[in-house]
Amino acid sequence: MENNSRILEVTSLKKYFPVKKGFLKRTVGHVKAVDDIHFYINEGETLGLVGESGCGKTTLGRCILRAIEPSEGSALFKDRKGNHVELTGLDPKQLRAIRRDMQLIFQDPYSSLNPRMTVLNIIGEPLLCNGIAKGDELRERVKRLMELVGLNSRHLERYPHAFSGGQRQRIGIARALATNPRFIVCDEAVSALDVSVQAQILNLLQDLQEQLNLSYLFISHDLGVIQHISDRVGVMYVGKMVEMAETEALFNTPKHPYTEALLSAKPLPDPRAKSKRIILEGEVANPANPPSGCYFHPRCKYAKDICKQKAPEWTEVGKDHYVACHLAGELELQGVHSQ
Ligand code: SF4
Repeated sequence: MENNSRILEVTSLKKYFPVKKGFLKRTVGHVKAVDDIHFYINEGETLGLVGESGCGKTTLGRCILRAIEPSEGSALFKDRKGNHVELTGLDPKQLRAIRRDMQLIFQDPYSSLNPRMTVLNIIGEPLLCNGIAKGDELRERVKRLMELVGLNSRHLERYPHAFSGGQRQRIGIARALATNPRFIVCDEAVSALDVSVQAQILNLLQDLQEQLNLSYLFISHDLGVIQHISDRVGVMYVGKMVEMAETEALFNTPKHPYTEALLSAKPLPDPRAKSKRIILEGEVANPANPPSGCYFHPRCKYAKDICKQKAPEWTEVGKDHYVACHLAGELELQGVHSQ
């Protein structure tokens, strides 16, 4: 059923990449990059997505924007007229129209901006391409966007190399905002920046969210960043969502052993405090040939026989707290406050 406060509702989303072998390039298997994922994002909310590199979080973000075609599943998006649109069923023309509402902010502000274009052209391009503005009006809009993200609008004829890393990321944000979107996927948006600049960009994203009622899917491998910016957090492991909850609940009372291990590696605010880091044994599972049952079982210190035999179901164990673990109701796991 459609829930009106939700801007995005994802159900059973999958992205399997075929593995081809031999002279005839026959498909011999699949890499399950995104494997049966369910979640929603409310309007004006930030959902953080965390997990080790290669866990499928970037692929998930791109499947939602249809930059990568999902293999199966549904992604319902509430457009600016309030209609719920099935993103996976759109033809290229419909997709172009709805892309104005959905944007992406990239990780690397150095490589994502064309060095031969001025800031005016970089930020103005989506306005021109979508027929929103041209000429003097475009110039005025670009100036306003630059001011909105804290850039000096007199610098609009400059090239990207004349700006610092943080300023370049502001240019990337201004470009993403040009079409007046309502939903933005921020993919490792601050990971390439120094810590002090990271904080400024995170604060900018939060201010913009408040002013413009934006909704974010915020992808990062950095738990500190995720904790700072997210209202709710999802944890991914080998293409699966293993836990999702409100930020405080996830960090204080995790219900999945993988979340517990990730949290134990988070630096403590007091450097004298003794860390109880959980060292995970073994390798991350291969998404082309994952283990039976729970994908995490070869590395899980709590694993029982059932974990090897049966995949755990995605279950609500508390208000808005979902987990895929057979023992979620029994385990007393350690959160950041119990370290
Ligand atoms: Fe560990 Fe079993 Fe839970 Fe998987 S289902 S996380 S193996 S306890």
